Amino acid sequence: MNISPTHLPRFFNAIDTELKKNADEIIGLDQAIGDGDHLTNLQRGLEAVQKIEVELSEMNWSDALMKIGMTLMSTMGGASGSLFGSFFLAMSKAAKDKTVDTQHLAAMFDAGVTAVKQRGKADIGEKTMLDSLIPACETLKQDVANNEALADIIENIKQAAKKGMLSTEAMVATKGRASFLGERARGHIDAGARTSQLIISVIADEVINIHNEN
Ligand code: ADP
Ligand code: MG
Repeated sequence: MNISPTHLPRFFNAIDTELKKNADEIIGLDQAIGDGDHLTNLQRGLEAVQKIEVELSEMNWSDALMKIGMTLMSTMGGASGSLFGSFFLAMSKAAKDKTVDTQHLAAMFDAGVTAVKQRGKADIGEKTMLDSLIPACETLKQDVANNEALADIIENIKQAAKKGMLSTEAMVATKGRASFLGERARGHIDAGARTSQLIISVIADEVINIHNEN
């Protein structure tokens, strides 16, 4: 796997396309059990990192991830701004002075997810983005430890995130705005779980595309 920060513009672009493609659905989800601003928050953050993508693509992973985290923190707003920001800052710390191979990528992702759990004081089963992130991360760690082929790792992480995202539909929320709705939140997928799953999925696809081009 030969992924470097020079690929960041490509990742951002793929995320942008995917969010636009699913915009109505995402807005609808956050309107149903949140305040409807989740997509706008995300897009504001994405636009801010896209503005500095040339600068980012010339950095090493640790510096680029740090800059992304700080940029998201200061531009996104919403609960998700500080959560996404924490995610990237923790990934940056874990990338410091390390070669980013598949093995280490799993450790970095794990550090990011742990930071989101701490920042949000939340865990799996609370109807948040963590219901996509945690299963994806656990699957990735397991597959990497078992030395699975990259194509399988990619497929498994996508499936785990999707299954986790779908699982939020039946949950009541115990964190975030949706927690104020009690039983009324049941029957709706969490917006943050959906966007995290979409982002994981497009990044996974881009990673395999880049790998196959090399
Ligand atoms: P806000 O809730 O402030 O309007 P957003 O709409 O941008 O912020 O993001 C809402 C999403 O953030 C939710 O759908 C949920 O996935 C996630 N979220 C909210 N609170 C938490 C938390 N404590 N831990 C993890 N994720 C959370
Ligand atoms: Mg919201």
